Amino acid sequence: MQRERVADDIYVFTSEMYAQVTAGAVITSEGAILIDTLVFPEEARAIKNFLETRLNCPIQYVINTHYHADHTYGTCFFENAHVVAHARCHDLLATRGRDGLAQAKHSTPELRDVEIILPHMVFESGTMSVHLGNKTVEMWHSPGHSPDSIVCLVKEDRVLFAADTLMPIPYFVDGSYDDFIESLNALKNGGYENVVQGHGEVVLRGEVEEKIQADLDYLAIIRGHVEKVLRRNKPITDLTQLTIESCGKSRIPLNGLVQELHRANLHALYYELQAQLVGAD
Ligand SMILES: [Zn+2]
Repeated sequence: MQRERVADDIYVFTSEMYAQVTAGAVITSEGAILIDTLVFPEEARAIKNFLETRLNCPIQYVINTHYHADHTYGTCFFENAHVVAHARCHDLLATRGRDGLAQAKHSTPELRDVEIILPHMVFESGTMSVHLGNKTVEMWHSPGHSPDSIVCLVKEDRVLFAADTLMPIPYFVDGSYDDFIESLNALKNGGYENVVQGHGEVVLRGEVEEKIQADLDYLAIIRGHVEKVLRRNKPITDLTQLTIESCGKSRIPLNGLVQELHRANLHALYYELQAQLVGAD
């Protein structure tokens, strides 16, 4: 696990075990607010050890940015924290989250001790803030990657934890293409100092607007290609020619995993748009 400091009181932890997923900690005069928890128990325990033993800063709140395993499995190791999320996250953890964990335990023995913790506090619309000591973390719904995704802004530092609304390529297979575009547009011109992506590297102030626009461009390009294939009545296999580079993105981030995400995006969009076409007939 890598650790970096993005502001005086804000740390980012990046997994070296799974897809460079990130978690963050906001250190306040009254304890820490943890945003996401990584996947594996040893990583969550390392975060806890760093914050509580080395910094002597007890973790008071854990925010789950969405229900996916790579962001929530560590939650159960912060027994004393209040867990905060969107209302949809609560419901998805209780259903898909629990089912997914039962399956994952068969194939991945390291997850033996993991339990799903349902959020204690949720919000449905608008914003919700956690005030702790000298810091305020404001959250709002940002669906697209998943129906329950949120983003978290540390107001005093203008550091945004964008979770999977920003990652090396937008990935909407478990969410919605249209919601993703709306959520990206809502992040424009936010005046953020740093943006912590759900996976991969921190985006610095000068690069944020360009990054959001590049993601919107990617989404527009793949939609154009998928529509063309559908209009010409071509089979889904025609989409395999569309490399990630031809859609404006690099194939390198996340050790190449982005290529898989790209292919899954194309397929999901093909079926989504095909269903709309059938519906329109
Ligand atoms: Zn993720």
